[in-house]
Amino acid sequence: MSIIAERMGRILPSQTIAITQKARALKAEGRDIISLSAGEPDFDTPDFVKQAAIEAIARGETKYTDVAGTAPLRQAVAEWLNRDFDLDYRAEEICVSTGGKQVIYNVMTATLNAGDEVIIPAPAWVSYPDIVRLADGTPIVVSTLEEDGFRLTASQLKAAITPRTRWVVINSPCNPTGAAYSRDELKALADVLLEHPHIWVLTDDIYAKLVYDGRVSHTLVQVEPRLRDRTVTMNGVSKAYAMTGWRIGFSAAPVELTRQLIKLQGQSTSNPCSIAQAAALAAISGSQECIAEMVSVYQERRDLVVDQLSSVAGLECRRPEGAFYVFVSVKKLLGKRSAQGTDLVDDEAFVAALLEETGVAAVHGAAFLMPGYFRVSYATSTELLKEACARIRHFCEGIE
Ligand code: GLU
Repeated sequence: MSIIAERMGRILPSQTIAITQKARALKAEGRDIISLSAGEPDFDTPDFVKQAAIEAIARGETKYTDVAGTAPLRQAVAEWLNRDFDLDYRAEEICVSTGGKQVIYNVMTATLNAGDEVIIPAPAWVSYPDIVRLADGTPIVVSTLEEDGFRLTASQLKAAITPRTRWVVINSPCNPTGAAYSRDELKALADVLLEHPHIWVLTDDIYAKLVYDGRVSHTLVQVEPRLRDRTVTMNGVSKAYAMTGWRIGFSAAPVELTRQLIKLQGQSTSNPCSIAQAAALAAISGSQECIAEMVSVYQERRDLVVDQLSSVAGLECRRPEGAFYVFVSVKKLLGKRSAQGTDLVDDEAFVAALLEETGVAAVHGAAFLMPGYFRVSYATSTELLKEACARIRHFCEGIE
């Protein structure tokens, strides 16, 4: 009998992490690799944030904290959400976790029973369905349409709801498409949800600070406060403050659910790293200028990548509203053969050949539950992006 639990057979390794690690390993072997696979800012964590961590160490803040995070950090998170997203949360509704991923784990594990359904609009971040499966739930994947800007429509949502639906996941701006919902689009979804009081909403706002062309991010509870009692608003410092490695994410949720999240976390990891908490506190309460600077660079890079790739014969992409990804259709090139003779049977074969023949790493669309595309992360230097786009063009031009 195998020592491995049955639940491990329900999930795959995270493809974003697997491809990023593969690119790193090839680079270490001396290959000329440009990785556009990692969903993480290339910017360094701001100096004042690093300094806050150093000072926390010097003060001896190296012990356990409250499981849900320190009191000042929970208070600061509530204030940050209220100040920047026009929400109305209290410190006791906040649970600080080891990255946004742990927030989602906690939420699904604390709430799902076998067979409960979670509506996940696709394309979707790779880990949502697997986290749901690990928690014995059933992911209900609803494919959005490119002509709808990859946004879930009210009628699609309505059609996916059953008596077993427990959660709907909303991720705006979206990983991997960069699509952001407008206030009206969120309100249309909220109106459907108001008619179905048994459904809760997980709104993953981790990219909310990264929106372009002067846009403002909206989040569900801000648009429809009547959903506050059955929504988990999720955010964190990883993307906005270039702090992926510090692993700080947080949830804002009704107190009763928050208590359960804390109970679960107290039986797994306990508090997130005390030093990282001090850094996160500085990030969200200090000057926010660093975000504006990063956003303006990301916007330039987005335009560079979209302009370059959409002018390549066979590739198509929309100009995303946020995050740092471009989701590129490769459908017109599938079924053909690369210059070095690889049959491009699907998007996975395409990205594998792209990596092998040009050294550019990207993630295939099927990993995000939408085959026929690949995801490019433009959170890398402009110089490397230019070189990567030139290599992708050359690769595509060689396909016959
Ligand atoms: N969220 C990032 C990505 O999509 C980081 C890797 C991961 O956890 O999936 O690439």
